[in-house]
Amino acid sequence: MQFNTYTVAGAHVAAWLVNHPAPGPAALTGELRRHEVHEPAATAAEAAELQGWTARLGAVFAAAAVTDKAGLADALLVAAGCRPRLVSHGDGKPFHLHFAPAESGLAARVRALTAAGLAHVIDAGGGSRLRACDRPGCGVAFLDTSRNGRRHFCSVRCANQVNVANHRRRTRAPGA
Ligand SMILES: [Zn+2]
Ligand SMILES: [Zn+2]
Repeated sequence: MQFNTYTVAGAHVAAWLVNHPAPGPAALTGELRRHEVHEPAATAAEAAELQGWTARLGAVFAAAAVTDKAGLADALLVAAGCRPRLVSHGDGKPFHLHFAPAESGLAARVRALTAAGLAHVIDAGGGSRLRACDRPGCGVAFLDTSRNGRRHFCSVRCANQVNVANHRRRTRAPGA
């Protein structure tokens, strides 16, 4: 499944926020810079301002059915006041979507970016790829970008733990 790189960045940032629910400003800035977000410098107040939003993002990853994910993500689009614009940062630079005006402040821009990113994945038919790790007690959010879209764990480590537990369960002698 191919996702538009600029747009899907919002889904990756959304997953990161869910997995880092109280990030410091430097960590948040680093993550935004990694995804080429315009003017990524965050203050402590802006990082803190995103905490309520992060809980709403987490609900999209945690919802079992794509219908529920879509309903939640649609509500986020409305709440974020998404206003997509086509922007180029200079002569010959590629045009891409911004989802909130640069002057609206970092927290507002991150809300719009993450809502649009989740919506884009669902729009592209990838709603079931917005996942929370299946290992009991883990729940790390991730976007499954694997070819067949059947990744159920956030990491090899979680997959191995569950496989070992399942193996033990299967090989335990009956009644033992
Ligand atoms: Zn830009
Ligand atoms: Zn996990």
